[in-house]
Formats: sequence, C-alpha cells, structure tokens
Amino acid sequence: MAQKLILPINKMRVTAGYKNANYRKDFGYTHYGVDVTDKDRKDKRVWGSGNGEVTHAGWHPSGGNVVVVVYKECEAKNGKWYDIAMRYYHLDSINVKVGQKITKDTVIGNYGNTGSSSGAHLHIEVDHDIKYPNYTPQTSKSNSVLKSGTDSTLNPVDVLWCKASAPDKQSVHNAGYNTVTVNDLDYKVTK
Ligand SMILES: [Zn+2]
Repeated sequence: MAQKLILPINKMRVTAGYKNANYRKDFGYTHYGVDVTDKDRKDKRVWGSGNGEVTHAGWHPSGGNVVVVVYKECEAKNGKWYDIAMRYYHLDSINVKVGQKITKDTVIGNYGNTGSSSGAHLHIEVDHDIKYPNYTPQTSKSNSVLKSGTDSTLNPVDVLWCKASAPDKQSVHNAGYNTVTVNDLDYKVTK
C-alpha cells in the first residue's frame, strides 16, 4: 500500500544533518543519518513513520538499543517510490518486537543515550536496500542487530514528510548547531 512516511518525532528538533561536513570534521567520520530530539526535550516517544514491519531489534555496541523497520512503497519528495528500511539508534527502551507490524501510531520506544552517544537523541537512517535492512555504513562493528555494510542510505529530508494535521501536528525545529544546514530542515509538509 502506497504511503508517505512521516517524522518519527512530532515536534522534531534537528541537531545534526545527513553527511554534514562539520560533523565529519568534528568526529572524523561521515554521518549517514540525522540526529534529532523533541523540541522541548520532554516527550521522548519515537513513533512509527507509517505501515511497516520490525525486522531487527536489540542491542548493538555503538547503536545502543536499535530497531530496524521496513516500510514498503513510500513516496519521496522527488515523486519516486521506494521501499525503505529505517534504523533507529540510541533508544532508551524498545517497545516493539521483531515481526511486529507497526503504524504511525505505534511507539517504537523512547529515545535515549545508549551506545555511542553523548546526550539523549535519536539517530535515524533511511536506506533503500530492504534486502539487507540492518546493514549500515555507520559502524564497523557487526552483531546480530546491525551489520557493517556499504552505503545505500538516502537523505531522510528527501523521504520523510511533516504531517501538519491533527492529531500528529508535526513541526521541524533547528537546534542551531553548525552540524545543521537549512536543507536539513526542509521536510515537505503533508496534510
Ligand atoms: Zn547520528
């Protein structure tokens, strides 16, 4: 079923963008995802982005508590359609199980500070290779939850939509760090 994937946090505050040059300079590696919190850093719930199925969930030494969800037939900003794997890192708690079908109204977990993280946030990756949904270029450490792989990521801003209508009432906020550009905030609004 065709769908538009929406933001995983309703009042989403962006702290580091996709493949950000300053991030690479500061940390010494490429950032293959987007780092976010909620605007007021109070509501730490991470929601499903649409109709999907959990393929992996559990602990990874750098990802912390990680969940991987596959979403089918997702409309991107450019009008193309993709099957998408989304990976959620640094969760404080995991609220879903492998094989579980989820919707935009499912709480995947709360974001947290687990794994290689220096403050509570959510790292999300969007990948168009759903054959290997848990393969990521972000880590060299492979376990049963995440595996080290080549880069087939997309920029989340090109695939996720900001659902402005109730009950989600989504919005995007800039943390104002040098790891965020104007383009990282340019999520297309949908009703
Ligand atoms: Zn990150």
